[in-house]
Amino acid sequence: MTDNFDLEHIWHPYTSMTQPLPTFKVKRAYGATIELDDGRTLIDGMSSWWCAIHGYNHPDLNQAVTDQLQNMSHIMFGGLTHDPAIELGKILLKITPPSLDKIFYADSGSVAVEVALKMAVQFWTAQGQPQKTNFITTRSGYHGDTWNAMSVCDPVTGMHQIFGTSLPNRLFVAAPQTKFHEEWNQKDIAELEQAIQQNHEKLAALIIEPIVQGAGGMRFYHPEYLRQAKALCVKYHLLLIFDEIATGFGRTGKLFAWEHAQVEPDIMCLGKGLTGGYMTLSATLTTKHVAETISRGEAGVFMHGPTFMANPLACAVALKSTQLLIEQDWQANIKRIEQQLSQYLMPLNQLDYVADVRVLGAIGVVELTFNVDMKILQQQFVDRGIWIRPFGKLVYVMPPYVITQQELSDLLEQLVEVVKTLQGAH
Ligand code: PMP
Repeated sequence: MTDNFDLEHIWHPYTSMTQPLPTFKVKRAYGATIELDDGRTLIDGMSSWWCAIHGYNHPDLNQAVTDQLQNMSHIMFGGLTHDPAIELGKILLKITPPSLDKIFYADSGSVAVEVALKMAVQFWTAQGQPQKTNFITTRSGYHGDTWNAMSVCDPVTGMHQIFGTSLPNRLFVAAPQTKFHEEWNQKDIAELEQAIQQNHEKLAALIIEPIVQGAGGMRFYHPEYLRQAKALCVKYHLLLIFDEIATGFGRTGKLFAWEHAQVEPDIMCLGKGLTGGYMTLSATLTTKHVAETISRGEAGVFMHGPTFMANPLACAVALKSTQLLIEQDWQANIKRIEQQLSQYLMPLNQLDYVADVRVLGAIGVVELTFNVDMKILQQQFVDRGIWIRPFGKLVYVMPPYVITQQELSDLLEQLVEVVKTLQGAH
């Protein structure tokens, strides 16, 4: 099954080159189906790590890429511009927080986070406060794998011990504890308040994933945390950065997760679902105030400019994907997925080795009391015709929004069966 060249020469995410995990070769993918090289088909429960929101091989998205290809696949963004970037920008400003007004396009989620952090530092330097260079964040966060993005990931699951002192030292507080549907506990904000109070003079910003902490633990927390965090940022002069790379484009039941709290950030990062998973593109948005302050600073410019900035193919497909999403009744569709996820997954709560089951929007999470053996479990899922990639104690689903009711039932039935067979496996 596993290709030998691939096994010997090609690195996969977070894998060893001496003991690589098996990989399954994919021939094609369409809708919510992944077709393997050996002819087997799998129902996709991962949306390729949050991004393929409209599924694979979507005719409208294919068309958008094909059309753009006739004009140009890429053109430098220094000194030149193009309609895909402009039209995408217009639609993004319509659907993101009203105070966001300026857009920086980059090539991946991690780079969008780097850009956000750099904006915050340049902002304070331009304000005559060059000592405000550090960042505060919560534990259990995930913001990407590049240097500074990694430095604000959870220090335990985020590989900090591997990179040691080569990583900048950030300020961490406990992850928000009050769950999304629970009653707000005022004590939840105390540590953040104290840390900001004591360290605000050197802090440029608070960076946080609103409502859903994704790769750092798939945790859903209370919107009040964001409201109070915002008030603290205002009081102590910190910028607020929302990383909506995973939560954006409808996944949590709102178009963007900030809407759950109605709290507007100063800077917001988008990625993943932005292009419907067709190719890599990200955007960092900020307010007029932040952008103008940076531009008045000594440097006079914002110091970033990647080669593939605003890649026209990526912008064209992102525009089409976003139009496709907002022109349909996506709320009803996410509700449908949410109800089905709850119906199938919630009963797993009764198993003594299931620590928690949670569902929000089109995200379903089963948290076990032990770490799963990813290799064994993934094989079992594939043998049952579904694509689920668990990590740590988490078996989770976030299907493409185009998944049919029948496909989702089939996927969840198989997933539930596999989780039930884990009895005694720990
Ligand atoms: N932020 C969040 C919240 C993410 O989930 C991810 C990717 N898992 C990133 C940033 C990094 O994005 P990318 O992998 O495109 O660099």
